[in-house]
Amino acid sequence: MSTPNCWCERCDIQANAIRTRMWICPECGDKRCEKARFHGNRCSTKMNLAQTLAETAEKPPIGVMPESVWNWHQRRNRMIELMQAMLRYSEAGKPVPVAWCEELMRRIEEHIPAGGKP
Ligand SMILES: [Zn+2]
Ligand SMILES: [Zn+2]
Repeated sequence: MSTPNCWCERCDIQANAIRTRMWICPECGDKRCEKARFHGNRCSTKMNLAQTLAETAEKPPIGVMPESVWNWHQRRNRMIELMQAMLRYSEAGKPVPVAWCEELMRRIEEHIPAGGKP
């Protein structure tokens, strides 16, 4: 498919065998644009710009989790560590330190929302 009066490189060469005019993309005005080479191509300047915008939009700088959430995870991990340590000790036939039991009990109570169910 070629159009004799098209502005693109391919149509110009096909219609006239030689270069009869400057090939310029009608969308960005750039003669190095992919669309200047063939009208079926997409304007590469526009695509690059869209891609750059999309990339900056998709990649906001990484923040940090809220302190309250982080604290919650820390306390929860501590309980898991205590339970796992107690399990390891009991499986090894060693007495579980009372301090661990007390800490775990205290932390479980703290973990339960006030007046609610765990
Ligand atoms: Zn064309
Ligand atoms: Zn273009």
